Amino acid sequence: MQGLMQDYPLTTQHILWRMERLYGPKEIVTKTDSGLRRVSYQELTGRIHRLAHALTKLGVKKGDRVATLCWNNYRHLELYYAIPCLGAVLHTLNLRLFPAQLEFTVKDAEDTLIFVDSSLISVLNQVAGKIPSVRQIVVIKDGGQELPEHQLGELLDYETLLQQEPDQFDWPRLDERAAAAMCYTSGTTGNPKGVVYSHRSQFLHAMAVLQADTLALSEQDALLPLVPMFHANSWGLPYAVGLAGAKMIFPDRFAGDSQALIDLADSEGATLLAGVPTIWINFLTQLRKDGRRLNNVRLVLCGGSAVPRALMEGMDAAGLRMIHAWGMTETSPIGSVGVARSWLPREQELEIRLRQGVPVPGVEIRIADLATGLELPWDGQAFGEIQCRGPWIASGYHNNADPTRLTEDGWFRTGDVATIDQDGYISIVDRTKDVIKSGGEWISSVELEGAIMAHPKVLEACVIGVDHPKWQERPVAYVVARPEAKGELTEAEIREFLAGKVADWWLPDEIRFIDEVPKTSTFKFDKKALRADAEPLHESQAAEAPPV
Ligand code: AMP
Repeated sequence: MQGLMQDYPLTTQHILWRMERLYGPKEIVTKTDSGLRRVSYQELTGRIHRLAHALTKLGVKKGDRVATLCWNNYRHLELYYAIPCLGAVLHTLNLRLFPAQLEFTVKDAEDTLIFVDSSLISVLNQVAGKIPSVRQIVVIKDGGQELPEHQLGELLDYETLLQQEPDQFDWPRLDERAAAAMCYTSGTTGNPKGVVYSHRSQFLHAMAVLQADTLALSEQDALLPLVPMFHANSWGLPYAVGLAGAKMIFPDRFAGDSQALIDLADSEGATLLAGVPTIWINFLTQLRKDGRRLNNVRLVLCGGSAVPRALMEGMDAAGLRMIHAWGMTETSPIGSVGVARSWLPREQELEIRLRQGVPVPGVEIRIADLATGLELPWDGQAFGEIQCRGPWIASGYHNNADPTRLTEDGWFRTGDVATIDQDGYISIVDRTKDVIKSGGEWISSVELEGAIMAHPKVLEACVIGVDHPKWQERPVAYVVARPEAKGELTEAEIREFLAGKVADWWLPDEIRFIDEVPKTSTFKFDKKALRADAEPLHESQAAEAPPV
């Protein structure tokens, strides 16, 4: 037929166009060591044009991979736009990888340039001389501080490069299916795998974030993302914010200082916060300690791991409404969001919000039997691997790593085990590799952790399966007591608390108290590290586990 709609390419260039033309006065605020740095969208987009000139002079061509090793700050945001809008591919390096993994990701992506925050020079220096594809390194300095000693050769200075360039760049025409960005999975097993986002996938994902039943992100919002910009592109939020014209608040470096984050959210009027549960556990502890409230915050996006009930209840009591989302690097990452449906009883609202939500518009899901691969019913009982498809779901990995992840009929196998109920709500049971197989039955480590973390004296709990001669595996819980209950909380108290809440044969064989649960580079519980160091079960337990 004639007269069809235009075949308009869905690219990050359109997002940039909106930022320039429609939201000039909006602010991006970064907390730096030398105070708050404020840039308007107008200023930022001018700098993005300058950066595009600089990248071109440095020889960057369409399809080239350009890496960043940076914290959450406005210069990183400039790179987020200039690199893909130029047709090159933004590769956000995970600054918490071990040197061998960092080296692997740079080599695997064949990065040509690296932009590095000056405070991360020593991280990059660990791979000096081992990354031959990299022609040039550009350092981003905050002030005129001296750089630490390094063997990275001659470094260019970011601000000097920008100063020399005009603030108008003529962007090339791009194919919406071209690569825009890439991120490596956190690599809990084997080498990290490269996930490549296209312009189209980023664009559509950003549109989805703006939808009312997703985050309803709007121009009125001020977003403080506490998810690193190397983790699934900060959950795609930097592009969603640009599309909506919202205010962005960046913490720059952040680790565990909840007090500083609360101060920043408060002073800058944050309306929307985003991060993984471990961030909010500490955040909530601090809020309670100080008796503070963040009245401007309308929503706290929480994902990356299951939200423990105690956390959601605690946040509710602190006036912070939490919304639960599920996804992974391979799903850009938002796959489902925990909105409550109008026909469901209001008294069940908390139960519903604790689930991983319903697929967002654009994403289709199904569950498949772990043994046969056959599709399972949505009855809230049958559990199987989540498989999904949609315009922002990976079809494979860079360099064809792990080709088994796509089913024959084109669905992505996530490795997450879940039930789905008749209303479409997903409840994650576990990761396929974390679910505990005991005497031929499954135990959900996630559910057990949630049950233990509901104990008022428990701060964190992480459960793993430990080999057992008779039952194959048995659960062992690693528990961190709240500071005020340290040295006082007993194993018996936890067992008593769990009685009647989980099946008897789910009760952990051992409860081991530790000072802190080890965390992955994206602040999740690091079960791999716990497993590697786990003591075997004590002999008495190993011989006589509870009957299944
Ligand atoms: P990553 O690619 O590092 O973001 O990790 C993705 C994985 O985190 C998923 O495959 C899940 O196992 C886990 N995950 C993400 N969101 C949730 C959630 N809301 N509840 C439980 N697990 C989650």
